[in-house]
Amino acid sequence: MLADLAFKRKWQNKCKAEPYDKPNIVTGANIQVCWEKFARYFEVELKEVKLREGYYVMDPVKAAKMVDENTICVAAILGSTLNGEFEDVKLLKDFLTEKNKKTGWDTPIHVDAASGGFTAPILYPELEWDFRLPLVKSINVSGHKYGLVYAGIGWVTWRSKEDFPI
Ligand SMILES: *Cc1c(COP(=O)(O)O)cnc(C)c1O
Repeated sequence: MLADLAFKRKWQNKCKAEPYDKPNIVTGANIQVCWEKFARYFEVELKEVKLREGYYVMDPVKAAKMVDENTICVAAILGSTLNGEFEDVKLLKDFLTEKNKKTGWDTPIHVDAASGGFTAPILYPELEWDFRLPLVKSINVSGHKYGLVYAGIGWVTWRSKEDFPI
């Protein structure tokens, strides 16, 4: 929620000069319920990429297509809630970079690495899903899913100070 608030604030700052509509987040229909809560509490529309038979994560091509001028971020999941599968953040970055170039927008990526943030760096160190990809501006992880921490604790981290306009 804090990461999304930062995106919303950045988008609002950008919109000051021009008329704007309701902000939205593009994500897969496989998102965790906290994203639905965020959308409801903070008045952001969730634009969900539908899943299809045999493909249960966000399709990066469809996600990039859904992005419009009111998209505050595209949220990718590392460790999908449905089946644990990692979404292809690098491919998403490629399609989004192309779209940004064409439109002049600067739509960023958030990675919900609630579970995968702890396993990907160890199991697949060469997999690029994090700040190695320029459009990734923030990442969250859930410490409480692995134990040895306070109940319910999680963390969010930002790429740079500019990405945290709060
Ligand atoms: C668990 C989980 C969350 C929620 O994180 P909490 O730390 O429990 O608030 C969000 N997204 C994904 C993908 C998760 O697995």
